[in-house]
Amino acid sequence: MDDAKTEPSAPPTDGMGHVTAKLPVGQADVAAGLAEVRAAIARAAEDSERDPATVQLVAVSKTVPAEGILPALKAGQRVFGENYVQESVAKWPDLRARYPDVELHLVGPLQSNKAREAVALFDVIHSLDRLSLAAALAKEIDRSGRTPKLLIQVNTGAEPQKGGVLPDQLDTLLSECQETHGLAIQGLMCIPPAEDPPSAHFALLARLAKAHNLPILSMGMSADFPAAIQLGATHVRVGTAIFGARTRKA
Ligand SMILES: *Cc1c(COP(=O)(O)O)cnc(C)c1O
Repeated sequence: MDDAKTEPSAPPTDGMGHVTAKLPVGQADVAAGLAEVRAAIARAAEDSERDPATVQLVAVSKTVPAEGILPALKAGQRVFGENYVQESVAKWPDLRARYPDVELHLVGPLQSNKAREAVALFDVIHSLDRLSLAAALAKEIDRSGRTPKLLIQVNTGAEPQKGGVLPDQLDTLLSECQETHGLAIQGLMCIPPAEDPPSAHFALLARLAKAHNLPILSMGMSADFPAAIQLGATHVRVGTAIFGARTRKA
């Protein structure tokens, strides 16, 4: 690559090679951010003697308009995460028509009344956290014949405002999903409390997944994905470090 022409291509880093991407959505160099994140994933995997190919990058494109997502698609990224069903329904059908092999993940909270749209659009749903939602998803899965992979979100910090089942209620929710609704659960997801060091939460989630024989561990975001990879993440959900800082809260 011709450095002179692509400059300024390096996203801001924190001095340890972690992208801090302070430029806003729309101004960030998406291809450079993506390359940096991929390199950091490979380093973290190799540091813990894991094959980098066992870590999937879910590029979280919430609030990023279609024009801002295109550079990531052009750079070969195919796995994307979104938070809002409505926003995804507006953005993704057109992008998918151009890139049919896109895999779409719902990482944000899901209301039961959006279960139909979510099952129709998403390949993986990370935020199953209650029995009523399991019932709504099971109904739509039966009706549509589509079978998105399902992860249970665990509220590892027991934060009242946050989605996710409490760790001590995971057992019950898992068996009810499986026995009452015939839903195969593939893994667990968590979002550690902003003020806590994340590693204890990642370790807890990894322990819970192992205890229940669940292969997928969705953990780690822009600020902490290397730590999540060291603790066994199979999917890291990275937005800001690729697309830039979001202006509206999401
Ligand atoms: C927004 C979001 C992300 C990405 O967060 P960044 O800090 O921008 O990398 C990951 N997971 C969930 C559930 C999110 O809502």
